[in-house]
Amino acid sequence: MTIEIFAVGGYEEVGQNMTAVKVDDQVVIMDMGIALDKLLLWGESTDALEEPELQRMGVLPDDSVLDKYRNNVTAIIASHAHLDHIGAMGKLAKKYNAPIVGTPFTLGILKENLREEKQKPTKFVEMQFGEVMELGDLAIEFLHVTHSTPQTTFTALHTSEGIVFYANDYKFDNYQALEKPPDYKRIEKLGREGVKAMIVESVRADDPSKTPSELVAKQMLNDTITETLNDNNGILVTCFSSHIERLNSILEVGKKLGRQIVFCGSSMSKYMNVAQKCGIRDFSEFEIYGRSKGRKKALNEAAKNKQDYIFVVTGGQGEPNAVLSRIANGEYEYKIDPGDEVIFSCSTIPNPSNMANRDILERKLQFYGARIFRDVHVSGHAGKEDHRDLLTMLNPEHVIPCHGGLDKLSSYAKLASERRDDKYLLGETMHILQNGQRLDLGAKA
Ligand SMILES: [Zn+2]
Repeated sequence: MTIEIFAVGGYEEVGQNMTAVKVDDQVVIMDMGIALDKLLLWGESTDALEEPELQRMGVLPDDSVLDKYRNNVTAIIASHAHLDHIGAMGKLAKKYNAPIVGTPFTLGILKENLREEKQKPTKFVEMQFGEVMELGDLAIEFLHVTHSTPQTTFTALHTSEGIVFYANDYKFDNYQALEKPPDYKRIEKLGREGVKAMIVESVRADDPSKTPSELVAKQMLNDTITETLNDNNGILVTCFSSHIERLNSILEVGKKLGRQIVFCGSSMSKYMNVAQKCGIRDFSEFEIYGRSKGRKKALNEAAKNKQDYIFVVTGGQGEPNAVLSRIANGEYEYKIDPGDEVIFSCSTIPNPSNMANRDILERKLQFYGARIFRDVHVSGHAGKEDHRDLLTMLNPEHVIPCHGGLDKLSSYAKLASERRDDKYLLGETMHILQNGQRLDLGAKA
């Protein structure tokens, strides 16, 4: 048996995640993501451009390394609903005659995205945690883990030579309100069965910490929303639309003020509707406005009684077309007045376009006298000490860090070397790959 790992995308950047695992003649693809920062850099919409152009621009992963094996692909795994993991599926999945396998929430979002992109339907296979999909000599198993969007999965690819484990993205969060803690028991059991290789994210491998729980973010929101002087002012909160757990925290905290909570933004409406359909959180008692007409009406009506509302809006990255920028630009009767609170329950993704957009937005808000609360947020990515725990639980033979540039991949290699047991040696059992490279894990007769 031969096992080969193809580093297709996400090995030189944060974004455009795509890895392929070839076991003898069978290939399983893990994720097909987009590089959002590159898209912003070129200022284009993906709808207007075709795949080769987008690959040259670095927006989509260049999957030409798989050209020879197109007919050998038997499954495409969608690990979770973030665009840097599923955003390229509309353009690339159709090249392979294979179903896309994912949890109900991930597939629900993916189907919405494909509809928006006017892509033809693809074959989908829905899997729940703990389920196993047989693929000839291989089997795919989904394990529950936590992240910053619901129903994120670890994927275990069972082969006769051991397991290939895909852990991209995750955090170990034991206190989420809407999801159980990660399935540590099953992870440890797989570790005892024997893991041949682990492909693991490295976004925060350089952060010497354990990433705090969402419960901490909720408490930060509590401190910000309920413990500040805000009797008569407007309150606007923004966060990543895909972060249903955070939206729930905003709701729980916001309810204490007795104000009406209203959600505005097309992507927010999409994620909330799919979460509701999947039974993750019932939002039916709240007003959600995805379309511009409804949004305008709601914001215009609230303008007279700002003290009665909390608006949860899109635009935490300063995106010029999102609701928060539109409010700052004076497009609605709801204006920013001195003392109004704008709470950023998100980080700024550090790329030039976002940084510039956020700076412009904050300056406008400040011009009108808004109080700005930044970084009321915890990360969705594992820190160094989470990575150490996963490494100990799985004890893989080989490790392939992914989802980062050389700096982040190296940080992962460094943390593994700090174990001082010489198990992970660079080039032998710890492998730093670049996009387009392949790694042969050795053949056995
Ligand atoms: Zn993610």
